[in-house]
Amino acid sequence: MTEPHLPIGVAIIGGGPAGLSAGLQLVRANRRIAIIDSNRPRHSATLHSHGFLTRDGASPLELRRLGREEFEAYPTATFAQAIVREVAPLSEAEALATGFPDGLGFRVRGSGVRGAADVEFLARRVLITAGLVEELPPFPMVRAFYGTSLHSCVECDGFEKTDKPLVLIGETSDLFARALLISRFSSDLIVFTNGADTVRPDQEEQLARIGIRVERRPIDDIVGERAEMTGVRMADGEVIPRVGGFVRPRWHAPVEFLGDQPIERDEWGLVVVDGRGETSVRGIYATGDIVPPGPQQLVIAAGGGARVAAKLNMDMIRGALGVGQVDD
Ligand SMILES: Cc1cc2nc3c(=O)[nH]c(=O)nc-3n(C[C@H](O)[C@H](O)[C@H](O)COP(=O)(O)OP(=O)(O)OC[C@H]3O[C@@H](n4cnc5c(N)ncnc54)[C@H](O)[C@@H]3O)c2cc1C
Repeated sequence: MTEPHLPIGVAIIGGGPAGLSAGLQLVRANRRIAIIDSNRPRHSATLHSHGFLTRDGASPLELRRLGREEFEAYPTATFAQAIVREVAPLSEAEALATGFPDGLGFRVRGSGVRGAADVEFLARRVLITAGLVEELPPFPMVRAFYGTSLHSCVECDGFEKTDKPLVLIGETSDLFARALLISRFSSDLIVFTNGADTVRPDQEEQLARIGIRVERRPIDDIVGERAEMTGVRMADGEVIPRVGGFVRPRWHAPVEFLGDQPIERDEWGLVVVDGRGETSVRGIYATGDIVPPGPQQLVIAAGGGARVAAKLNMDMIRGALGVGQVDD
């Protein structure tokens, strides 16, 4: 059953650090805000998150719980546990009839998760903070070690890997840059391309100069004992001993709910926004992991949420008063 809701200022899709931070700023600007969250954070594989000022080492779930509690303490806040299925633009007449003064608005529909009701909101603006969906390299055991021995964020988990025999596994053209970043923590590093030709010979030479080897043979699987990774088994059967490291997943921005609205993406599939955080669809904003350039970290996502909230607030003030662009 769908619960009816009052028209709101902003529907925020995603209740991670980006969405919660934006939500907090906007309810504090006296806006009526709904955060709609399907409760599937990308970092659920990990027990400790690092680098968030005052919360270094905290559980990511605890961070979300605290953020939600702070947001929901405001009377104009709604937090819905649902997965957004559709974001459809209102016609100008519908938007004006709803009380949206600049004739711009959206209908946002979602299906309840974990027993929660389905939701429908009419919102002046939409903010997408849905994070990324990641596709790990296709080895049967990779998930078993992800978040413990293997990680994707070098800035987040590099420190704990200092001086260990490490891997970097991936098939994308940014492996060279990532290998340089990891070399801050350990020079005992092997870059596995799984047969892909994504590290150029000149880059391989530069890596060799600092003791990093590139292994181009295809991989069969990751091997280990219990939760501890012990090596990488190549397709030819050789096992190369390694205790952990980094994988480079492929990501995609989960914005299927936009249907055929023409949202621009970059070469990696992330959502392109302007300096104000607005996407190529007027009235739809995005921030957090889903937009470049990163780095993909909690503190960056939370900062992005606060920044885009300020821009959205001003956009709605301008829209209500009918004034053009102002310096803010
Ligand atoms: C294994 C791992 C470990 C990490 N460790 C660290 C660390 O130690 N330190 C650090 O700073 N960063 C870390 N990160 C990165 C950090 O988790 C992200 O940068 C941060 O969570 C991004 O925040 P976000 O709000 O953009 O997206 P997310 O936190 O991913 O939140 C997005 C939310 O949107 C929801 N959503 C998606 N689609 C919909 C939909 N259609 N409808 C409703 N809701 C939807 C999802 O369920 C999710 O709850 C780690 C990431 C991973 C994968």
